[in-house]
Amino acid sequence: MPRQIIDRSQKLFDHAQKFIPGGVNSPVRAFRSVGGTPRFFTKAKGAYLWDADENRYVDTICSWGPAIVGHARKEVIDAVKKAAEGGLSFGAPTAGEGELAEWVSKHLPSIEMLRLTSSGTEATMSAIRLARGFTGRSKILKFEGCYHGHVDSLLVKAGSGLLTFGNPTSAGVPESFAAETLVLDYNDTDAVKACFTEHGSEIAGVIVEPIAGNMNLVRPVPGFLETLREQCTAHGAVLIFDEVMTGFRVGAQGVQGLTGITPDLTTLGKVIGGGMPMGAFGGRSDIMRQVAPLGPVYQAGTLSGNPVAVAAGVATLKIVSEPAFFETLGKLTGDCMQGLTQAAREAGIERFCADSVGGMFGIYFSHECPKSLDDVTNSNREAFNRFFHAMLERGVYLAPSAYEAGFLSIEHLGDPIDIILKTAREAFKEIASVANA
Ligand SMILES: *Cc1c(COP(=O)(O)O)cnc(C)c1O
Repeated sequence: MPRQIIDRSQKLFDHAQKFIPGGVNSPVRAFRSVGGTPRFFTKAKGAYLWDADENRYVDTICSWGPAIVGHARKEVIDAVKKAAEGGLSFGAPTAGEGELAEWVSKHLPSIEMLRLTSSGTEATMSAIRLARGFTGRSKILKFEGCYHGHVDSLLVKAGSGLLTFGNPTSAGVPESFAAETLVLDYNDTDAVKACFTEHGSEIAGVIVEPIAGNMNLVRPVPGFLETLREQCTAHGAVLIFDEVMTGFRVGAQGVQGLTGITPDLTTLGKVIGGGMPMGAFGGRSDIMRQVAPLGPVYQAGTLSGNPVAVAAGVATLKIVSEPAFFETLGKLTGDCMQGLTQAAREAGIERFCADSVGGMFGIYFSHECPKSLDDVTNSNREAFNRFFHAMLERGVYLAPSAYEAGFLSIEHLGDPIDIILKTAREAFKEIASVANA
């Protein structure tokens, strides 16, 4: 195999590192977990990306979810162009915002009212403020391995002991903030019950990724989300489903549609902006009516509901809601995972498995699919890193960390999937000895 030339990416990376911490504007892009030179991209179309050296890749990140209808899809680009020509931002309301809000509410009936933000982080930050304002309580319960954006009080991990208050995972988060956050293991239903028994009257809300995607893909075990719903109802706490990743990604109604479990509030992001910066939080109208200007919980944004972002979102969501969209996406993603598993076995690798929900997937160098952050940590991450590079050099762009989920688009059907599988057969052979070690 001829070595891939990445001179221009290397040059751009060297330059960027002089002015931007780590050369990137979001840490995972720096390849710290897998090592090597991050690719700088110049173009994307459908299922493919092109880097600055004109290498082509099949993309399995899709901008961490948003590019679900394929990159630079005509309907989306046309809508963005049209909106942009009419002015980029007014700082005043527009028709598109109401259209998008109605559309979201129709598809996710638990969202009676919603507010648009410019990122997922803003959505979760606002949702927990709202839960606190609504209940008059201060504690938030979250789960190890779930990521809810870089909100101070959510950058917290479990301390030691069974029922513990959190410790900051980032410098700059005061311990007093972290003390307001309770952290439990994902899928630990008994710990949830015990936590509510002890702290029930102090808990403002529970925030959870109802299918986790920020410690790779981890499904909820039967009973976990049900228990969260029961306990929140029994103790008057607000249940927040953080569907920033899963919303319009695992199915048209998110995880709440797949499971039939209704949260009080939902946060959205990623797909809802169709590749433009956008997030949203919404839910029960009695709770949402606490948000300013109707209520006392302050929340705002100069570019919130930006007309260009809204146009991209509406155009994307229209395609996503076409009949059979998620059936097709779910099947192509599932078939790809089955193909990968078969390719691993053919290369003699037993310690590999793969899972998917809708257009979101996880691959793990472990015997079984993980149920918690510990399980992911105990997978063979060295094998993942080798596999990542073996795929990258051959033109398949995987998420650069064993702790990230992957994402496919409707445009992956056909050739792109064939390329992924053909490439994986070679890559698995190359790394088999590491994977089996
Ligand atoms: C990506 C993500 C966020 C943060 O969204 P940003 O737009 O990056 O701020 C929050 N929660 C979940 C579940 C996410 O996947």
